[in-house]
Amino acid sequence: MDKSIFETYAGLEAKALLEPVLRDFKGRAAVVSSFGAESAVLLHMVAAVDPSTPVIFLDTGKHFWETLHYRAKLIDRLGLTDVRSVSPDTEELATADPDGTLHKVNGDKCCHVRKTLPLQRALEGFDVVISGRKRYHGAARATLEFLSLADDRLKVEPLAGFSALDLDAYRKAHDLPQHPLTEIGYFSIGCEPCTVQGGSEVDPRAGRWAGTSKTECGIHWTHNGKDMPLEVTGRLSLA
Ligand code: SF4
Repeated sequence: MDKSIFETYAGLEAKALLEPVLRDFKGRAAVVSSFGAESAVLLHMVAAVDPSTPVIFLDTGKHFWETLHYRAKLIDRLGLTDVRSVSPDTEELATADPDGTLHKVNGDKCCHVRKTLPLQRALEGFDVVISGRKRYHGAARATLEFLSLADDRLKVEPLAGFSALDLDAYRKAHDLPQHPLTEIGYFSIGCEPCTVQGGSEVDPRAGRWAGTSKTECGIHWTHNGKDMPLEVTGRLSLA
């Protein structure tokens, strides 16, 4: 991927960025969505530009049932026609997490097997990956760029500059359904064992891996961007 692509889309954000990206990379761009608390905004913009855009949902096997229900509701409401549920590899899961409790002892390894590896496979053949991260989430996301290169893919973050208020205003303007768990105090929603109620406009991800030092699942790390702090070997290794 040539870095001159940055100049092509310089100064664009939100739907104004999505439009040329989805047009120029039709069939080569995929959206990654958790169908979580803030997902409706990006998915609404994507659907307005091209509802046949591939949307990858990592079905970890640990989601709240409310998330799966919300996913179906949003697909129907937005008319998305190519949402792909991606599951962990059965053998890898049997090896790394035979009893389903790996998240309790090694969250990074659990995310690696249930999210990172399946996503890597799902993105094969795509040159562009679009996600809905925002700078207001803080920590490593505070300096998020609209465009970056990772593993020779263009990463696009159309909502990097959105605040919680911007999201709320957009949701209301377009009458978008909210994830049901937001109504009972969940600001950020991931897998059930690793998400608790809590968070705020200034720290929306406080309920994710609460009480641990973990803040990200790792799917946004590049192969070379961060060493996995795991003792993974053989076919689970990134090396
Ligand atoms: S968020 Fe928790 S349950 Fe989900 S993949 Fe990561 S460690 Fe496992």
